Amino acid sequence: MDFFDKLTGIAGTVTGKAAQTVNLGKTGVKLTSEKAALADDYRRLGEYYYAKVKVGEISDDEAEPFIKAIDKTSENIASLEQQMKEAKANILLSSPNIEVKVIQPGRTCPTCGDKVYVSSRYCPQCGSKLEE
Ligand SMILES: [Zn+2]
Repeated sequence: MDFFDKLTGIAGTVTGKAAQTVNLGKTGVKLTSEKAALADDYRRLGEYYYAKVKVGEISDDEAEPFIKAIDKTSENIASLEQQMKEAKANILLSSPNIEVKVIQPGRTCPTCGDKVYVSSRYCPQCGSKLEE
């Protein structure tokens, strides 16, 4: 094997490995997607079965712990959602108490001429008392 044949051989090997790496990546993406699809299928089967047990179409004592766990978790979610709702309502109710500082155009300190907030009683720049 002469020099150029060896070079060609190396180039061929690199191309082969790069191609295999790309294929490995594609296979990995497919694998992740298939696993997600399987988990989704199990979830849908679970929801179907849960509904059947709930309406009494299926009687399955062995499934009872799973049914109870789902009921308990559903209760917890409902309770947390209610808490979120109340907390949001409280924030909305209390928001008028939030002090909103606005610099009014033209409102300036009569002593130093600095711009001041509408709600300020004293100038933050020079400390002069401001008129209401
Ligand atoms: Zn001032």
